[in-house]
Amino acid sequence: MNLTPHPSLLDALLLPTAQPLLTTTSSPHPTSNPLNLPNPPNLPNSSTPPNSSNPLSLKTLLAPYPPYIDTELRTWLFKKYCFNPDAYTNFPKSLRTTLKKSFPSALPLHLTKTIHSTKDKTKKFLFKTQDNQFIETVLIDNHSHKNTSQPPLKKPTSLPPSTSSSPPSTYTLCISSQIGCPLSCDFCATGMMKFTRNLTPAEILAQYLLPAATYNIKISHIVFMGMGEPLLNLKNVFAALTHFTAPLPNGLALSARRISISTSGILNGIEKLTTFKANIRLSISLHSALQHTRNIIMPDLKNVSLPTLKQTLIAYSRNKRAHPLLIEYIMIKNLNDDATHLTALISFLKAFPCKVNLIAYNHVPTKPYQPSPPERIRTFASALIKAHITTTQRFKKGDDIKAACGQLAILPNPPLPTAPLITAQKKHA
Ligand code: SF4
Repeated sequence: MNLTPHPSLLDALLLPTAQPLLTTTSSPHPTSNPLNLPNPPNLPNSSTPPNSSNPLSLKTLLAPYPPYIDTELRTWLFKKYCFNPDAYTNFPKSLRTTLKKSFPSALPLHLTKTIHSTKDKTKKFLFKTQDNQFIETVLIDNHSHKNTSQPPLKKPTSLPPSTSSSPPSTYTLCISSQIGCPLSCDFCATGMMKFTRNLTPAEILAQYLLPAATYNIKISHIVFMGMGEPLLNLKNVFAALTHFTAPLPNGLALSARRISISTSGILNGIEKLTTFKANIRLSISLHSALQHTRNIIMPDLKNVSLPTLKQTLIAYSRNKRAHPLLIEYIMIKNLNDDATHLTALISFLKAFPCKVNLIAYNHVPTKPYQPSPPERIRTFASALIKAHITTTQRFKKGDDIKAACGQLAILPNPPLPTAPLITAQKKHA
């Protein structure tokens, strides 16, 4: 890996406080990788930035200055979204010069490209890391669905009524947690990428800070649904969550209930999440309640049996009662959308409080799948609602710029030819 000798200012700032806010460190399961996934030699499953081999101590650098300087520095970054030390006019000139010299980059990411959807107001960002890797992040306008998609099939009723008096949100950011993904879910473009490494807490936070500063907007919602499996980068994601939710100036003061982690079902990660103090939301990418179909869709999760996953989700729901689980179900034509799969899904979901999000499959070049027809999605929704399971249908946003669910990837061009359609029946005939 080609590493820069200079950590960014944000890396240096987060280093001393990167410990997540955990209520306990005990876990009934070992913290080692439960899926026996290969651990690349450059996988830093910790809060340590990749360039920390030569860390500059910001604390040492600020030591000669009054204590308020540390607070002011955080204010410039986290509140004013200002990343140029020349603008820190309340700092002594000598400090501004030292900061610029010591940290040529304030943030560990560089925005190289922005792609705008022509259908809705979705934007996709291509960020370059300091070791010349690329990741994608998606900014979604929460109000653009009014013109672009159908309303929820049923207004969620299992959520407690909001008591917040804060103004309505305007933007949701879909952020990445890894460069590539160690898993290879069969419907997902990211899974076709080579896994390179985990993102650091600073790289996760920078995905928020750069769009917020570029467009001068308050991004109210964050979903960890971009590239990577967030619960396979547990320490860094927890550290980032701590900074997202910490009050200003230590963090970005975001509401925990507006942050969602989406996982494919990493059991020890789900258990660890119960120890996180703030009540963030948890989404599970289920996609089938029949083991053989789930094994096709998510082959790297064959070791996670559905009964074990169900028990883990029951335990999670008992420990974290603030929000019902969100179950993501990508509907793929002739693979997971027939009556047998529907019956299995209803049976699985009866075990714990949850709501279901039905997502019509988004096209990925080279993949053999097609979205379920709208009438089949409606059949699923009606049956789930009849079974008293709150059900919504995900708004399709940004699919024209490959920014929708399962479409994020930095892949070579041109894509490989499309493979023939595989169905559950064929694969297991
Ligand atoms: S769906 Fe998520 S966990 Fe699966 S390959 Fe894609 S990014 Fe990784």
